Amino acid sequence: MALKKHTVVIGGGPGGYVAAIRASQLGLDTLVIEKGNLGGVCLNVGCIPSKAVIHAAKTYYKSVHENETMGIEAEKVSLDFGRTIAWKDSVVSKLTGGIGGLLKGNKVDVLNGTATFTGPKKLSVTLADGKTETVEFENCILATGSSPISLPAFPIDQEKILDSTGALALKKLPESLIVIGGGYIGLELGMAYAKLGTKVTVVEFLDSVLAQFDADVVQVVEKKLKKLGVTVLTSTKADGFTKKGSKVVLKATDKAGKNHELEADYIFVSIGRSPNSKNLGLDKAGIQVDEKGFVKINERCQTSAKHIYAIGDVAGQPMLAHKASKEGEIAAENIAGHKAVMDCRQIPAVVFTDPEISQSGMSEKEARASGRKFTASKFPYAAIGRSLTTNETEGFVKFISDSETKEVLGITIVGANASDLISEAALAIEMCAFVDDVALTVHPHPTFGEILMEAAKGNLGEAIHVLNPKH
Ligand code: FAD
Repeated sequence: MALKKHTVVIGGGPGGYVAAIRASQLGLDTLVIEKGNLGGVCLNVGCIPSKAVIHAAKTYYKSVHENETMGIEAEKVSLDFGRTIAWKDSVVSKLTGGIGGLLKGNKVDVLNGTATFTGPKKLSVTLADGKTETVEFENCILATGSSPISLPAFPIDQEKILDSTGALALKKLPESLIVIGGGYIGLELGMAYAKLGTKVTVVEFLDSVLAQFDADVVQVVEKKLKKLGVTVLTSTKADGFTKKGSKVVLKATDKAGKNHELEADYIFVSIGRSPNSKNLGLDKAGIQVDEKGFVKINERCQTSAKHIYAIGDVAGQPMLAHKASKEGEIAAENIAGHKAVMDCRQIPAVVFTDPEISQSGMSEKEARASGRKFTASKFPYAAIGRSLTTNETEGFVKFISDSETKEVLGITIVGANASDLISEAALAIEMCAFVDDVALTVHPHPTFGEILMEAAKGNLGEAIHVLNPKH
């Protein structure tokens, strides 16, 4: 006999579990089907474990290399990498366990298995023991996420050729690591390993790492990469590899045609992610995908089958956890009869490098490409007291506003605490704030938050702690 549920969510990641909780809050009889662990990529092998490792690496590096300026000299700072990884795993279990509790508390049922559509309102679910169960629904939310893109010349074995999951599960600290891909995941983890003492080389096909950001923003991170001894080879194509004893030798070619051979303990392939939209029987339910495999949705997150919604990584860029969760709420609210739409003016993005980068709204190059008249200004971290008191003076805030109306168009931060500071920028842009709104808001002293107020004043030519261009 088929299991009947009003709303079925496929996938228990930050898109799916949030959608299920919201659906249940709105009175819908809800089931989540998850083939792995609740929490999806984000909690199990993505955002959370990577940020735990990054934090541990930062703490270790600061203790060894950066605290003596303040007169703190630790006699012996040592690293037990096995314990670092065990601590990271404990953080993951705490959070994923919490999701199970939240779903239960919200009366959401969970079925552990792999779902495929067998009709417009029907799923077949293969359970862990190989048995199958039929599930029927009125509405469905597809939240199956994404997987790392692999390179044919570098098949992932998690032994020597790793993806991000493998790179976060190493038992021993590698002496050397090659990262293919200078995007945010590759650089975040590459930098963390460099801080722990691994010799890291990044091989990037494009002319720059983190190519989506303005060049002056990326330069701040590049400077730190150099300080950490990370070799960055841009405009270089990874061609293949051979095994040499316990090592791997990567062969690469640069733009000038020069061949490179690089030896390391591991190669970590980090060239992007693709949507999990295959083998789901989408055609049986009338769900269309685009040429890249993303499920096509409208502003309500409805697919081409109107009673089925798609959210998160499977439904398009940006592939970020907070975008997945927001879409989850929208899908659930529409199923419950609300008229919710995804009309965000911005979705902030954060890169947890050192220093961190965050962006909300337009970058300078996007503003230029838009053809709009804009005012761009930069305010340095070195000019605010808090940066000096924490010895974190690198970086700046870039403020972009409409030259005529003074509406805030975009804020990019590269510097300490950029990940937390960006929420104020997001609020400003979401509320269509003017530069004056940010400049006139009193910010507490001495805090990193002051830099946004100062940067806004700077955008108006009225900064207090730097000389304005007109002077
Ligand atoms: P997922 O989290 O991928 O969840 C999908 C779930 O669906 C999975 O649990 C999967 O097992 C399940 N599933 C798939 N198919 C089926 C099926 N047929 N039946 C049943 N279940 C199925 N984003 C950020 O915003 N900030 C970060 O700092 C950040 N860091 C990251 C670091 C790394 C190393 C990685 C890899 C990713 C990072 N991301 C980050 C991206 C973020 O993890 C994803 O954007 C987010 O997890 C997407 O959520 P989702 O719910 O769409 O899908």
